[in-house]
Amino acid sequence: MTSTNISTSVTRGLTERDQQNLWHPYTQHKTAALPIAIKKGKGALLWDENNKEYIDAIASWWVNPYGHSNTFIADAIYKQLTTLEHVLFGGFTHEPAILVGEKLMEILPKNQQKIFFSDNGSTAVEIAIKVALQYFFNKGEKRTAIIAFENAFHGDTFGAMAASGISFFVEAFKDSLIEVIRIPVPVKGLEQESYDALQSVIKNNNCAGFIFEPLVQGAAGMVMYEPESLDKLIRICQQSNVLTIADEVMTGFGKTGKTFATDYLIEKPDMMCLSKALTGGTIPMAITTFTQDLFDAFYDDDINKALFHGHTFTANPTGCAAALASLELLQSDEMQANIARVNQNHLEFQERIKNHAKVTATRVLGVIFALEIKTESAATYYGSLRNKLYDFFIENGVVLRPVGNIVYILPPYIITDEQLDTVYQVVENALEIV
Ligand SMILES: *Cc1c(COP(=O)(O)O)cnc(C)c1O
Repeated sequence: MTSTNISTSVTRGLTERDQQNLWHPYTQHKTAALPIAIKKGKGALLWDENNKEYIDAIASWWVNPYGHSNTFIADAIYKQLTTLEHVLFGGFTHEPAILVGEKLMEILPKNQQKIFFSDNGSTAVEIAIKVALQYFFNKGEKRTAIIAFENAFHGDTFGAMAASGISFFVEAFKDSLIEVIRIPVPVKGLEQESYDALQSVIKNNNCAGFIFEPLVQGAAGMVMYEPESLDKLIRICQQSNVLTIADEVMTGFGKTGKTFATDYLIEKPDMMCLSKALTGGTIPMAITTFTQDLFDAFYDDDINKALFHGHTFTANPTGCAAALASLELLQSDEMQANIARVNQNHLEFQERIKNHAKVTATRVLGVIFALEIKTESAATYYGSLRNKLYDFFIENGVVLRPVGNIVYILPPYIITDEQLDTVYQVVENALEIV
């Protein structure tokens, strides 16, 4: 293989070598641009194989609030790796897992009493759905349907995929999925419609649970709705003993300005799903949390009532150590100040941009900023407008992944004011090319 490009021939082109064996997520390899090979990350910055610098303005799919290559988390991981890297969790336990449990009890809603470990957001959701279905099975009650929002995203395994409402993700599998009934999201103006739909769905079906992304639907394009509406929906569920599942995989650990989006609510969910920022973007790990009542429905002399679910890497000690270090960072005054600072910057940018002729809507919650761009035609998820914007951002050294005509920013909390200003400027400039 020959290459005329000196800088890529040095590494024999990582991008080129990638294409030989690797299959990427959410990628149509025939039409997609070649992936960018990243060699290094520090704080909010990434560098590719040609030493081009990028600002990671989406915290690498929302996992990395404390910045890339964080040495505090890395040290904790190294220490754990050289003490006890892993031990099976069936019949064994260890202090890092116990500490994660104790720590989470301090910060989770008080009704959450038990935690179950897995490896990623989809499995955290999968477990919550299985627990909802088996809870009623164990009680001898027939309830098989799950309720979810339109345009929800809960992951890509079968149960999680069934609950996801972004249709092209699930089209090929729709005859093989569990029963999921959708209701509208209670965005401004649709609140009553959403409440009415939930009432009617519960009345006409045997519903086990209602799963939702609390306050912000991430993959849908940071679609936001009010805590009062979610409180109302949870109350409707409680009246009929329908279990509520808050999927905080995206919103958890400070993204909304509070530790959990659920902290904005008066009512509390029966289950919560956590992943993404749990380990600061270092080690894949997830946790599903439960009320005592849920746990008790599986607690029996009959082994068939147990939760027969587990993963080889359940409660991996190294992942637990990463989570503990991450939680310590999150709770530090410095990190809390960073979250407030990013939010303040977002609000100022929102003021500056909201009346722009090309902007139809803006949204801010915590470190999450989103704007909708005016389009003539309906913008599709991975459509041409989206690609044009994405390419423009990459050219200008900013990693942003627009969703249709929605551009959102969800940076690491430690991003500097200067880096954030660059991101805003590039977003503003992008409005001139659409
Ligand atoms: C990302 C995400 C998931 C899926 O998590 P994975 O780790 O990608 O499996 C589930 N729910 C929400 C709300 C998410 O944002």
